[in-house]
Amino acid sequence: MSSPQGYTFRCPSCDTPNFLSTVRFSRAQDDPLHCWKCEAFVDHATLRLDTVRENRHQSLMGRQVEVMAAGILYRGTFVEMTDEDVKLRGPTGWIILPIGRVSSVKEAGAAKAPFPAGEKSVDPGFYDPETE
Ligand SMILES: [Zn+2]
Repeated sequence: MSSPQGYTFRCPSCDTPNFLSTVRFSRAQDDPLHCWKCEAFVDHATLRLDTVRENRHQSLMGRQVEVMAAGILYRGTFVEMTDEDVKLRGPTGWIILPIGRVSSVKEAGAAKAPFPAGEKSVDPGFYDPETE
């Protein structure tokens, strides 16, 4: 099945959302699940999909955006925002920003104001090379 938008598997032990992909879940009968974070084994029969609280910024999907996170400006193509993080597709790979650090998300070019001194644009700080 395809991944339902707006839902997430949440670990029953540590409450981590998105701890499991739907693809992985579909193989749970053959291959016992365990949480990558707390390493608890999870009975897949007890799992349920939680609704992601909001899907803000849905309208930004696929657009060039500028995200301020921990004082650094990131640019990329908006992929999604969840309860946990903001995902962008940067020039060299994924940019995944913990939601707690993100102070603003806006469409690139929406405001023509120059960037204030002291802010800088940097290459993606972290990305998963395997997704490239
Ligand atoms: Zn867990």
